[in-house]
Amino acid sequence: MIPIARPSIDQREIDAVVSVMMNGQLAQGEQVFQFEKAFSESFGFPYTIATNNGTTALHVSLLAAGLKEGDKVLTTPFSFIATTNAILYCGGIPVFVDVDEDSFNLSPEVLRNTLKEHPDAKYLLLVHLFGQPCDMDEMMSIANEYNLTVIEDCAQAHGATYDGKPVGTFGIGGTFSFYPTKNMTTGEGGMIVSTNDDYAALCRKLANHGSTVRYVHDITGFNYRMTNISAAIGSVQLGKIHDFNLKRKKNAEKYLTEINNEYIKLPEITSSTDHVFHQFSVKTPYRNELIIHLEQNGVGYGIYYPIPIHKQQNVIDYMNDKGFVIKPQPISEKVAEQVLSIPVHPQLEEKEIEHIINVMNAFKI
Ligand SMILES: *Cc1c(COP(=O)(O)O)cnc(C)c1O
Repeated sequence: MIPIARPSIDQREIDAVVSVMMNGQLAQGEQVFQFEKAFSESFGFPYTIATNNGTTALHVSLLAAGLKEGDKVLTTPFSFIATTNAILYCGGIPVFVDVDEDSFNLSPEVLRNTLKEHPDAKYLLLVHLFGQPCDMDEMMSIANEYNLTVIEDCAQAHGATYDGKPVGTFGIGGTFSFYPTKNMTTGEGGMIVSTNDDYAALCRKLANHGSTVRYVHDITGFNYRMTNISAAIGSVQLGKIHDFNLKRKKNAEKYLTEINNEYIKLPEITSSTDHVFHQFSVKTPYRNELIIHLEQNGVGYGIYYPIPIHKQQNVIDYMNDKGFVIKPQPISEKVAEQVLSIPVHPQLEEKEIEHIINVMNAFKI
């Protein structure tokens, strides 16, 4: 079976971890600060704060942006649960904005309509899903018009750019994840990025028990620090991420030109985005049949995501408690039933890619 994801670890990551263990400082220290600096330089982020995962990065990024109990946050129903959970941790009210059917990202048109109904919304939490940046011209012009504070969830978009500008630099803050299936990994890990000095300092403080001077705490923070062990893996991975992304793009381009099947709709790429293909996600109304066909032919796959966030019980219960009714999100609901991702990761061999293309082309009903 060709797996849907395969983290790329070689002797260099192993040596880096061993060296931290020999040196003995396992928790946050020099390796973390080096990793933050290298992440900043690799992509062009003025400020970077490493965390223990992408979810805690999101939590802190929202708190530092001032999100308080009862504040409304416009966000996508079609993402991993962590995006909305971070809003719930702060006591915020997620206001779901349905996605565009072709890009899987939040639709500018639906955003404008939702704002007419919720003019009091203060925040916009965007997700650059599957590695493709949102329509940032539209997003930022709407955000400016309605005075929204923008946070970007870049968990799937390391190195992606929009009009040449890296994702994570459009709003007040951006967050990344280094979970093993992401474009680069640290085991578990996350990063907050920003162009704003004060905001970055507050994020760093919140992720470190509200402290800047040891054992002095003037606000309640969290222990969301990254370890030196994770950072050592991350620094090695940073040396490879640009190659990883190039391979992902090359694999995706091959699929886009060579997969041709009337039952399968290929993803659409908008021209101003540099898509880093965290996932290559197709749509088909015959998903159950396609799954059987892929399984019979040794091709791994993933369904991201089978249940949209607004249909998750924890979110429904939370919103009920707060006295809000969640509206249907027809496009996300339809897409969740049709979407399927095939392997696009940089570890794929030429032969495997050829096999996947042949299997996809041979599918019929
Ligand atoms: C992976 C992911 C997260 C959470 O990251 P973790 O490191 O797993 O906590 C958040 N948002 C999106 C869109 C993700 O894909």
